[in-house]
Amino acid sequence: MVAYLEHKDLTNEVITPQREQEIRDGVARVRDEVARACAASGRDESEVTILAATKTRDVGEIRVALHAGIRAIGENRPQEIQIKAPLLASDIEQLGVDYHLIGQLQKNKINKVLGIVSTIESVDSAQQAAQIGQRFVSRGITGAAQKVFLEVNESGEMSKSGCDPAQAYEQALAIAATEGVELAGLMTVGAHVSDESRVRAGFAALRDLRDKIVTSEQPGTQHCTELSMGMTHDIAWAIAEGSTQLRIGTGIFGARAFI
Ligand SMILES: *Cc1c(COP(=O)(O)O)cnc(C)c1O
Repeated sequence: MVAYLEHKDLTNEVITPQREQEIRDGVARVRDEVARACAASGRDESEVTILAATKTRDVGEIRVALHAGIRAIGENRPQEIQIKAPLLASDIEQLGVDYHLIGQLQKNKINKVLGIVSTIESVDSAQQAAQIGQRFVSRGITGAAQKVFLEVNESGEMSKSGCDPAQAYEQALAIAATEGVELAGLMTVGAHVSDESRVRAGFAALRDLRDKIVTSEQPGTQHCTELSMGMTHDIAWAIAEGSTQLRIGTGIFGARAFI
């Protein structure tokens, strides 16, 4: 059990007016920043999805973000998905919310998220994609395949998960050809540094890799269009380098008390 799960009731649905305003303000601030960054790089705002990273946030907090216009959410842990998904099911259905897994997925947890999340962003090998595809097929879930992104460790930081960039192209082609999964894009976590050129170099490398995959004409690669990159502190750089989906936690909900 993760420590913060013992400290916070993730099923809470009661939100004070003040907390509601904070989250609404957060969504508005992030939207403004996205609009400015898109304008600065000549991109259309409709090309960039704001996904709320909801780890440690309770049902009430997430619901405020959804009702403020957020239409994609991402959880890090299958356990948090299991706790929150049933309570958010009607909001998700009514508002048409896209539910992603953005954290690591162990083999024995795959069945816990299939049928709930539309996309698993944290796949780091063809072997893992094959395990997911097998389970998807054997469960007979509606839809041709489980959407996945290949996570690539572009920053090279030891603390980060994701596939080694040197292996990423080969792994991506293998995933694209795997039964039961659809390679829908790539994901990375930006380098944890303030040096703009270093952070942007990682994002640019992910974009170049996506372009190389999607133009390879290899089986299944035509769906690999999304670029999940950019968090609260590197929104503008990610948009300048072609991000199609930001993952924002702190910018929407404020600082995390745990993790
Ligand atoms: C927590 C998290 C985010 C959001 O981080 P913030 O800096 O709070 O915006 C994005 N991606 C992943 C994989 C995360 O775990």
